[in-house]
Amino acid sequence: MKAAVVAKNKTVVIEDKKLRPLEYGEALLKMECCGVCHTDLHVKNADFGDVSGITLGHEGIGVVTEVADGVTSLKVGDRASVAWFFRGCGNCEYCNSGKETFCRTAKNAGYTVDGGMAEECIVSADYAVKVPDGLDSAEASSITCAGVTTYKAIKVSGIKPGQWLAIYGLGGLGNLALQYAKNVFNAKVIAIDVNDKQLALAKEMGADLTLNPKTDNVDEIIQKELGGAHAAVVTAVAKSAFNSAVASVRAAGRVVAVGLPVETMDLSIPRLVLDGIEVVGSLVGTREDLKEAFRFGAEGKVVPKVQMRPLEDINTIFEEMEQGKFTGRMVIDFTKKH
Ligand SMILES: [Zn+2]
Ligand SMILES: [Zn+2]
Repeated sequence: MKAAVVAKNKTVVIEDKKLRPLEYGEALLKMECCGVCHTDLHVKNADFGDVSGITLGHEGIGVVTEVADGVTSLKVGDRASVAWFFRGCGNCEYCNSGKETFCRTAKNAGYTVDGGMAEECIVSADYAVKVPDGLDSAEASSITCAGVTTYKAIKVSGIKPGQWLAIYGLGGLGNLALQYAKNVFNAKVIAIDVNDKQLALAKEMGADLTLNPKTDNVDEIIQKELGGAHAAVVTAVAKSAFNSAVASVRAAGRVVAVGLPVETMDLSIPRLVLDGIEVVGSLVGTREDLKEAFRFGAEGKVVPKVQMRPLEDINTIFEEMEQGKFTGRMVIDFTKKH
C-alpha cells in the first residue's frame, strides 16, 4: 500500500509499505483521507528529531476493514480517526484522570508511530474515535486535529455563555475556535489578528469585535470598552500575542495557550498575583473531547474549510504551506485514483 513516508532530506517520499499483521486490540483502517498539518511540516523537517521511515499523518479518517481479537469498540464498516494522541499507556495518573494527552509515554501518529497518510493504517481500536454519521470524512479529518485542539482550549478557558472570549490568531485554528466559541459555547468573541482579511472573515462568521494589533491598541480597547475579556485563547505563534492576552483579560481571567512559538512570554508577577490571572497550556484533546467535537461537526455547528488533494501533491502542499499560500485545510484524498 502507498504511504507518505518521512525521508532523511527534509522531504516526504511516497513509498510502497507492507503492513504487519494486526495484534490483539487493533483494527485496520482503509484510509479515506488525511489532513496536512503544520505539525507534519515540523516532523518532516526533523524539527522534533529525525523520524525518517515513519508514515506521516495525524488527521486521518478511515473505514474499518478488519478487527483483531479483543476489539469491542469498533466493527467492520465503522469510520474512525487517526489522531496525534494515538495511544496512552492507559494506567498512569494522567490516563486515569481525564488528562490522557499528557501521558508521559503516549504515542503520536505520524511521529512516534506510523500515521494515517497512507492507503491503510493500523490503530489501537479503543483509541480510534468513531466518526458519527452525517459528518463528512474530510471535515472530520480537520476536526481530528485543529477542531478538537480549539474545542478543548475553549473548554479549558472555562468561558460561559455571554462572556467575552478573546481569540488571538484567526488562521486555521482560530477560525475553528471562533465557530466553537460562538456556535457551541455561545460566547461573545473578540477576534484579534494582524491580517485584515482574516478579520473580515471572522466578522462574517459572527465575531462580535475584531481588532488588528497593527492599528489598534488591543488590550487597552478590551479593558476600556469591555472591562477586560473573561478569557483568552491564543492560537497565534507570536510572543506579542501571548503578552497582549495577559494584558487583555479581566481579574481572575484565564489565558489558554495553544500556539507554539519557541519563545518565552513576559508575565508580570504582580499582575498574576494581585489580579489572580491564570495562564495554562492546552494540548490537543482526549478521546472524549474528540467525540464531542465530532458531534458538533455532525450537527453543522462547526464547518472546517477543506480542499481535497491527491497524495502525489504532498511535497507541493508543504511548499505552499511554507509560503502561506492557502488558508483552509489541505486534505489528502485516498478514495479516488488521481
Ligand atoms: Zn495537526
Ligand atoms: Zn498514561
